[in-house]
Amino acid sequence: MKKQSQEGLTVKKSENFSEWYSQIIQKAEIVDLRLGTKGFIIIRPFGALAMENMYGIYEKELQRNGHKPVIMPSVIPESNLKKESSHVKGFTPEVFWLETDKDDEKLALRPTSETVFTPMFSYWIRSHKDLPLKLYQKGSVFRYDTKSTRPLIRGREFNWIEAHNAFATKEEAEAQVIEDIKMTETVMHGKFGIPFLAMKRPQWDKFAGAEYTIGSDVVMPDGKLIQQPSTHYMGQIFSRAFEATFTDKNEKEEYLYTTAYGPAISRILASVISTHGDDKGLVFPYCIAPLNLVIVPIYNKKNKEKVLKYIDKIENKLKLMELKFEVDGRDDYSPGWKFNEWELKGVPFRLEIGEREVKNKKLTLFIRDSGEKINISVSELKNLNKLGKEFDDRLLKNSEKLMRGRIVNCKTKKELEKAMKDGKIARVDWCSINEEGFGCAEKIEKDVLAEVRGTLANKKEKSKGKCIVCGKPAKEIVYIAKSY
Ligand SMILES: [Zn+2]
Repeated sequence: MKKQSQEGLTVKKSENFSEWYSQIIQKAEIVDLRLGTKGFIIIRPFGALAMENMYGIYEKELQRNGHKPVIMPSVIPESNLKKESSHVKGFTPEVFWLETDKDDEKLALRPTSETVFTPMFSYWIRSHKDLPLKLYQKGSVFRYDTKSTRPLIRGREFNWIEAHNAFATKEEAEAQVIEDIKMTETVMHGKFGIPFLAMKRPQWDKFAGAEYTIGSDVVMPDGKLIQQPSTHYMGQIFSRAFEATFTDKNEKEEYLYTTAYGPAISRILASVISTHGDDKGLVFPYCIAPLNLVIVPIYNKKNKEKVLKYIDKIENKLKLMELKFEVDGRDDYSPGWKFNEWELKGVPFRLEIGEREVKNKKLTLFIRDSGEKINISVSELKNLNKLGKEFDDRLLKNSEKLMRGRIVNCKTKKELEKAMKDGKIARVDWCSINEEGFGCAEKIEKDVLAEVRGTLANKKEKSKGKCIVCGKPAKEIVYIAKSY
């Protein structure tokens, strides 16, 4: 069996993003692919710890907005999955079926859980007094994706949160959709430093069973978009299929309005890695880093005891702070080797402590994103969390700048072709995102190998031009890009 190489990256991110990505996730020990099960991967401790932190931040935000956790089974009975016709049509080709005794009902591994939540809503909700009901669960879902899989980006099992909500009115349900976009804004953009475009998907690209879908599109370094958390307004489609009703204020039996929201943590991790990483390796935002700080001792036989004793003192100070740190005391590796490894793994800060630091009562602090080394006094250690916040702010500003530079206005198909070749996101005039615009979208897909992603969901943009394909008066401004 081949041992994974501990060497650094051999390609530059700007020159070959795809190879860079595949090296970084393995060399930084985020994932292991050697089990060989296509689309199912092992997430190693450094990746798992980052994901735990990401889950924690996301769940806190969901709970702050009134969502409560629940744990549903991983299986869905066949009759549930097949109850809502457009949902069946969209998902059945991707379902993993379990082998069951012929007397038992067939079971599917859940691809998503509307068909479990909605029937349970009808037990849990009797009247308008029980509403709204906002629940979420974290866990894996399974999709037998026939398209090519990519670790963390597209897999047959992925780790996510799915929130499912029920409301008494259309207005409240639609307000939830807006709140979902705000949560993506607060968490994915604000905390993880990943800006996005909130896109109302064209009708032909909505979630199977939804009235409409809003996806958040994040740009990868190769210019392709990846869909991150999406939110779906189901209206009464699922509640009608499952007879999920409640008595409203006028004592009238009414169907529930439902919505769903799905941030895929493993996929967001892929965006975090791709957006912030550089040619030396990962750069974890401070708020989700598995380690905020690593201490590398520098000593020889003569001064070893003195240096380690000093580090003990520093450790005791750090233990009083809310901070994840580790002293890299491995004797068989040189300090230089350790520096490279922790830079590859994206730890935001490193303290280098040797004879000189002990003597001068100053510490050398290395900062991963800028590559700077600064001297700080022991008493300044208490500012580390503040420096961490500044660290995250720099990552955020940088990624926002990259995103802004990606969007270009295109008036002709020629301009559009060039934009796609340059890895840009094109902003164009468009006839319609309802079914009548589907033909134009098909042309774009065939001629420029790009997709109509939708219209901005959180800002009304008015078009005065003509559709870039059919030339009819444009009703919308859409964004077109290549995608994962
Ligand atoms: Zn058109």
